[in-house]
Amino acid sequence: MKELQERIIRDGKVLSASVLKVDAFLNHQVDPQLTMNIGKRFAELFADEKVTKVVTIEASGIHFALATSVALGVPFIYAKKKKAVTLTEEVYSAPVHSFTRQETYQISVSKQYLQAEDRVLIVDDFLATGAALVGLTQIVKDAGAHLVGIGAVIEKSFQEGRGLLEKEGIRIESLARIESMSPEHIHFIEPAATRV
Ligand code: 5GP
Repeated sequence: MKELQERIIRDGKVLSASVLKVDAFLNHQVDPQLTMNIGKRFAELFADEKVTKVVTIEASGIHFALATSVALGVPFIYAKKKKAVTLTEEVYSAPVHSFTRQETYQISVSKQYLQAEDRVLIVDDFLATGAALVGLTQIVKDAGAHLVGIGAVIEKSFQEGRGLLEKEGIRIESLARIESMSPEHIHFIEPAATRV
């Protein structure tokens, strides 16, 4: 997605060889028009899949799930990272290991909102190690629902996430695929757009 790639080049900050800061428009301050366009793009990509639910994980996936679900006209669910006192019903849960924080936490979704008849599109901000998305796919599997695919806003293709999920036969659509990056240069897999 050209608009997204250009924005990453303009406002993204490469903090290290593996960490891209996008707080200016995506992850802290949020550009609403870009977010809605991202949602529309995911909806177009999965238009033929008869999606019934969009699923993400709190917090940084929520606005993309909202934009996608508005475009598709279906509800979205965000998996919770901590078991809230209001989450009194039965839940599907899965462990997620955070490599950035070096800790494992449980994510959960109420069994009430995810059914075997559902056709699920998972969306998230980043596909990096894939740990968060693997946790979400586990929850969809446990519910007996059909996973139509994953939409990642930014993929760091040099990390192992895509390989891990593709091994499971999962369709992945990433709107910006970063092949390599440094503070001076971000190289996308396609179409060519680089920081000069
Ligand atoms: P995972 O490693 O499980 O694929 O990514 C987990 C989460 O870590 C992502 O959803 C995202 O919120 C965060 N994350 C991973 N890599 C980056 C990065 O380079 N920059 C930012 N801002 N967040 C990241």
